[in-house]
Amino acid sequence: QDSLAKSDASVMTAIRQEDRRQRDQIELIASENIVSKAVLEAQGSLLTNKYAEGYPGRRYYGGCDWVDEVERLAIERAKQLFDCQYINVQPHSGAQANGAVMLALLQPGDTIMGMSLDAGGHLTHGARPAQSGKWFNAVQYGVDAETQRIDYDAVEQLALECQPKLIIAGGSAIPRKLDFAKFRRIADKVGAYLMVDMAHIAGLIASGLHPSPLPHAHIVTTTTHKTLRGPRGGMILSNDLDLGKKINSAVFPGLQGGPLMHVIAGKAVALGEALSPAFRTYSQQVIDNAQTLAGVLIDRGCDIVTGGTDTHLVLVDLRPKGLTGNIVEAALERANITCNKNGIPFDPEKPTVTSGIRLGTPAGTTRGFGSDEFAQIGQLIGDVLDGLNKDGTPNAEVEERVKREIAELCERFPLYG
Ligand code: PLP
Repeated sequence: QDSLAKSDASVMTAIRQEDRRQRDQIELIASENIVSKAVLEAQGSLLTNKYAEGYPGRRYYGGCDWVDEVERLAIERAKQLFDCQYINVQPHSGAQANGAVMLALLQPGDTIMGMSLDAGGHLTHGARPAQSGKWFNAVQYGVDAETQRIDYDAVEQLALECQPKLIIAGGSAIPRKLDFAKFRRIADKVGAYLMVDMAHIAGLIASGLHPSPLPHAHIVTTTTHKTLRGPRGGMILSNDLDLGKKINSAVFPGLQGGPLMHVIAGKAVALGEALSPAFRTYSQQVIDNAQTLAGVLIDRGCDIVTGGTDTHLVLVDLRPKGLTGNIVEAALERANITCNKNGIPFDPEKPTVTSGIRLGTPAGTTRGFGSDEFAQIGQLIGDVLDGLNKDGTPNAEVEERVKREIAELCERFPLYG
């Protein structure tokens, strides 16, 4: 059979262009990372050919011996990494993992309580346009206006008022450590399940650099492709084996059909990598780099939400610069720095505009950048921001100069060697 280049030049061309983009741009999207060649190989393998509805040893198809082995490896490694009793590695994504938990534990119309999108929560935690916001009575908590951090007393008050059946902790733009024990005490007070969505911080938790939710939460969900540095996908973890049975039925046959065995192979490889001491060193560097980046941006006159970070992400408030997230996202992209516009707590701007950008260090750190490089990146971001004309129009001279410096950095730290 022909190779991709021969059989489908159009797709191959798009892949080559994306390859170029990833090599030439500095990736600061906090939810992205760069997987190892081994993960790419596993995910690109012929395991994609295999149907394997069911679970290892209990499949609805023949010929599953070897995919059983792969799924068992992923399960065992994840149990070891996160020190838990139960794990389901089949969710196709983080959204599917959260959906499966809701299918297992709730009825339509039940009350759920998650962090609002604008405070740093995720769509799947009860935002209006999402299934969780449409099918449940979704109540949302935010952050304190002064500290920009979770006010646990306010969360408790809201829970007492609304009596949710499920409380969700975690989110997509939370720069500070979460107190899972406090969330559990609140859940116990109102008889709610506690689900922690650790998607963003799973790699930091695996490395022991953020407290683990597993001793506290009834259920933990995650993606595998952010700080954990695996293929795109989801997982569900727990220490309650009875809940685990319900979750298994909710994932399959409740929500999904056949698992993506090639992706599960990629998850197994990434989980094996995350068990190595080198991964802990990497995760520490991710946090150090984020703190360096935050410090430089403060020096350059930006506000940082909560004043800094304990994790891999930095939420930049652009208002002191008189700029908006959409304009800055586009300007940085012209200079070959990729990030996303992001709302900040109590953002006066629309979600398509925003007053902030969200920056993350996982991908750059995988590439090999240390504190020196992130200090340089912070200065270059400052240059782009200060270079923009007052009406937000581009400053081609500054952006071209920054682009050249970015090219040098990328050349010194090539993607995939
Ligand atoms: N949960 C959190 C906290 C996330 O940040 C995300 C994605 O950004 C998801 C869930 C959804 O993951 P996916 O995009 O794999 O569906």
